[in-house]
Amino acid sequence: MKKIFILGSTGSIGVNTLNVIRDYPDLFRVSGITANSNIDLLMEQVEEFKPEWVVISDKSAAKNFALRSSDKIEILEGEEGLITATKNADYDILLSALVGFAGLSPTIEGIKRRKRIALANKETLVVAGEFIMDLAKKYFSEIIPVDSEHSAIFQCLAGEKTSEVGKLILTASGGPFLENTFEDLKSVSVADALNHPNWDMGNKISIDSASMMNKGLEVIEAHWLFNLPKNQIDVVIHPQSIIHSMVEFVDGSIKAQLSKPDMKLPIIYALSYPNRLQNNYTQTDLCKISKLTFFEPDFRKFECLKIAFDVMQIGGTAPCIMNAANEIAVEMFLNEKIKFLDIPKVISESLDKIEKVSHPDIETIFECDRKTRELALTYN
Ligand code: NDP
Ligand code: MG
Repeated sequence: MKKIFILGSTGSIGVNTLNVIRDYPDLFRVSGITANSNIDLLMEQVEEFKPEWVVISDKSAAKNFALRSSDKIEILEGEEGLITATKNADYDILLSALVGFAGLSPTIEGIKRRKRIALANKETLVVAGEFIMDLAKKYFSEIIPVDSEHSAIFQCLAGEKTSEVGKLILTASGGPFLENTFEDLKSVSVADALNHPNWDMGNKISIDSASMMNKGLEVIEAHWLFNLPKNQIDVVIHPQSIIHSMVEFVDGSIKAQLSKPDMKLPIIYALSYPNRLQNNYTQTDLCKISKLTFFEPDFRKFECLKIAFDVMQIGGTAPCIMNAANEIAVEMFLNEKIKFLDIPKVISESLDKIEKVSHPDIETIFECDRKTRELALTYN
């Protein structure tokens, strides 16, 4: 029986993880769950899964939860609560699925406790990839990707040597604006940007998918996770989202992982690895998929993807600046304070103005994130 602590149980990944756990009561048990403010859903989850640890990050939501809860369940609050819980709870796997920079600190606690990290929160590796991979090595903590592209690559690499990898090929659906022109993007609405063709995800990653920043974050995530340089990581547009990513080896052979898009698949693999569990989530009928197509991304239209490749090359705190500015820009776009095409502008401005540091320690990363947010908020 594996005990799972879910950071972000009320989110899209968190709910999918609980859907998986519900199907395997003899294999998995929920040890802890957390939410920011969605206490209605959290209350249902507490009732059903009876975790020992519950954290609510938003302090006023935590008070409301306590008022409404009939059980005598102890609730921890705020960022401190996330740290206390991940430091002390009894768990085997930390499913890291908060959104954004907020996921970094509690993930570090899981690594220090030598636990398996089932990593959905890609921002952790984007902002602090070098630090996190060194820490995981030091504490013998396994980082198993939940992001579908990285899970695909991880599966393709099984039994292979990294030295024989020619390149990683990350596939991208192209998001809701694949068929639009650059001109069209000037006037797209929030609803247009949230309307992803293949995946149902949280708001932040949906906007990142529309701008293709999501693929940019994933390129950096892959760079750290698989320890490969920029020139060995490619992105191809594959609108059907059936091939979740590929690895090309030095002999020219390409391995791919395929399935209909369903996040329960990479989640279950990260929980059960190195085993595979029988399930009925995804039946992929290849004959019903009439074609699989591939083409190059348009870096002019999707400037965020270009920025991410540049930033990976610069290294140091540059990805942290990009990430923080992007988080603020996405929030401003969702609140209709800026236009869609302002997102890359907020990021470029922050990258121009904030000093970059190479090989940053963790304090430097936190300071860089704070400073960048402050600056990005002044964009107009
Ligand atoms: P959601 O927005 O759906 O969920 C985020 C979760 O984190 C919720 O439980 C939310 O609580 C909580 N949360 C949000 N902000 C904070 C905060 N500041 N402090 C503490 N908790 C917070 O996100 P997703 O599930 O879509 O994504 C989670 C992560 O997984 C992201 O990093 C994303 O990039 C990655 N990912 C997601 C995929 C997907 O299919 N959704 C695919 C691959 C990767 P509340 O509900 O109360 O707001
Ligand atoms: Mg992905």
